Amino acid sequence: MEKHALNPDDLTTRLLLENKAWSEEILSTNPDFFHNLAKGQHPDFLWIGCSDSRVPAETIVNAHPGQIFVHRNIANQVITTDFNCLSVIQYAVEVLKVKHVIVCGHYGCGGVKAALQSQNSGLTITNKWLMHIKDIYRLHKDELKGLDEEATLASLIQLNIREQVQRIAHLSIIQKAWKESQLPTLHGWVYGLENGILEQLITLDHTTQLEPIYRYND
Ligand SMILES: [Zn+2]
Repeated sequence: MEKHALNPDDLTTRLLLENKAWSEEILSTNPDFFHNLAKGQHPDFLWIGCSDSRVPAETIVNAHPGQIFVHRNIANQVITTDFNCLSVIQYAVEVLKVKHVIVCGHYGCGGVKAALQSQNSGLTITNKWLMHIKDIYRLHKDELKGLDEEATLASLIQLNIREQVQRIAHLSIIQKAWKESQLPTLHGWVYGLENGILEQLITLDHTTQLEPIYRYND
């Protein structure tokens, strides 16, 4: 049924009305805003974040459209066989030439929490996605020993962010870019749902010494 009547009580209609109000508000102070943006994008940042609705990239750093190239998935992972994420990284680095790549995880992450539990037999696909976080837990089991449930979750959330930043550094896309332009710098940040604050965990740049097994031999 084709029907486009605007009923403000309808959830999606509410979004469309909010969109209209938002664009009108921007145009009222900057009439060329969308016209200028439509010419092209030159973001300085690539953001790889969690899909969690409470961690919207632009909102938490007070950014505007055009400033951040964004990829989000469950538990902000960079899986080296995931063409979706790899394509985003390649385009951001090689075409948009972003200066910074930020992996942003968050405390209270449901994806990491689920990875710390036994597998849910109903969520066969999601299980596979979370398997990589279970691997991080297994590799760091000794340092997590003795921590209570809450501290284990917080630590694994941090370890997961650090691991993703390392994985990005291991990509040929980044090693090539570091050799050619010394950019981008890679950052791992964690966001606090309870205070709205970002914390820096790790920074890697072109001077970072990678383990020889991850280096390219040319
Ligand atoms: Zn999350």
